[in-house]
Amino acid sequence: MQLYKDQHLRIHNSLSGQKQLFEPINEGHVGMYVCGPTVYSNVHLGNCRTFMSFDMIFRYLKHLGYKVRYVRNITDAGHLENDADEGEDKIAKKAKLEQIEPMEVVQRYTVDFHNTIQKLNLLPPSIEPTATGHIIEQIEIIKEIIEKGIAYEVNGSVYFDVVKFNEDHDYGKLSGRKLEDMITNTRELTAQDEKRNPQDFALWKKAEPQHIMRWPSPWGDGFPGWHLECTAMSTKYLGETFDIHGGGMDLKFPHHECEIAQAEASTGKSPVKYWLHANMLTLNGKKMSKSTDNNIYPAEIFSGDNNILSKPYTPAVVRFFMMQAHYTSILDLSDDALLASEKGYHRLMDALDNVDNLPTSSSSDFDVAAWKQKCYDAMNDDFNSPILIAQLFDAVKNINLIKEGKSSITEADKNELSTTMKAFVYDVLGIENQSLANDDSAALNGVMELLIQIRNEARANKDFATSDKIRDELNALGIQIKDGKDGTTFSLN
Ligand SMILES: [Zn+2]
Repeated sequence: MQLYKDQHLRIHNSLSGQKQLFEPINEGHVGMYVCGPTVYSNVHLGNCRTFMSFDMIFRYLKHLGYKVRYVRNITDAGHLENDADEGEDKIAKKAKLEQIEPMEVVQRYTVDFHNTIQKLNLLPPSIEPTATGHIIEQIEIIKEIIEKGIAYEVNGSVYFDVVKFNEDHDYGKLSGRKLEDMITNTRELTAQDEKRNPQDFALWKKAEPQHIMRWPSPWGDGFPGWHLECTAMSTKYLGETFDIHGGGMDLKFPHHECEIAQAEASTGKSPVKYWLHANMLTLNGKKMSKSTDNNIYPAEIFSGDNNILSKPYTPAVVRFFMMQAHYTSILDLSDDALLASEKGYHRLMDALDNVDNLPTSSSSDFDVAAWKQKCYDAMNDDFNSPILIAQLFDAVKNINLIKEGKSSITEADKNELSTTMKAFVYDVLGIENQSLANDDSAALNGVMELLIQIRNEARANKDFATSDKIRDELNALGIQIKDGKDGTTFSLN
């Protein structure tokens, strides 16, 4: 269904600083690129929030009937320790520290990233390209920028000439900076610096002999600058101009500003129609930081193995908690906030469990059509998930009144209410109903208790054919039973 023809989505564009009507370049199709993780450590909870925000955006665009090509990369090379093109490559540094291959670092933390975001019910992107898989494309872009006279080579490294670029373009337009101010506020170049201006950034860095991640290029062995990979991969899969580019707020400058500069320098076109930035997550009112211990990993929240929260919280509750804030607002995680979200989550799931069994009558007290449009209005207003959730709780209130016989609904309205609630909760917000999963495991426990009891009775009667059959058949199903001192237990393989 092409809902987008009736639902007019407006999104906040960081480039214009305003909410704009969303009009994709090709009708019915959306190209979206989001800067992915640098896979040198376990995925940070703040990053999970960013990717979850764009997952919700991806889901809503799909719900509206757009065909979306969503590209989210994996940074597996080129990301240096600081933004000034200095320091070691983050992945190479970790590889040295753990005495493993850089690609082992990449593999380990890519797997962790995928496992974590899968628990949080993020949909996989359409394409998940890697920086190391696109070295040739990156070299080609560098050649084009050199040809246009906007990049220069020094001692095997290539730098982007920001001052030259700014003569015909506007470097700083996304982050609202002026190059003149940046120049006055930065240190002078020292004699050892290879750059012509301190604002210039590396497109290609020469690899010193000890540098393990290296590729041949027209300028000698080296590795690509971090900003370049996103330009190469977004252009390759979405074209020179595409609809949406997203990322965390912290990437706006210099990363995204550099992406714009590289693309405009090589193609002459502005690469992105709508720039979206997701805001950060704080913990107990403070910035998360590993060095101050004000930090928590997703796995520690799910297991409860941490010194910050009073109990474990399920991924669904964490997701519901995050969806309760607008993606452009700072969100603070605390035990109180998670406890409140857990309560809200269960109220919402209870209502979803009840909605299909509501008694119906010949008239409705609840205006489902008007409510449904309010849900769309919320999401059409720059993906306002907290307002959508407030509308969902308006429905929860009505469902409970109807259930108690204090209000009425027609069969048709009940069906519409059920379909719409499920679409917004499960498909758009991506919140899983884990109360159902719990019911399943309760049922499994009951069945297993019964089987173990029958097997014990068979053994007591020396009917070993039956008791062995139960054990072997369960084994074939992946369920192992163990006889111990305290009775018989079972485990799933
Ligand atoms: Zn990027």
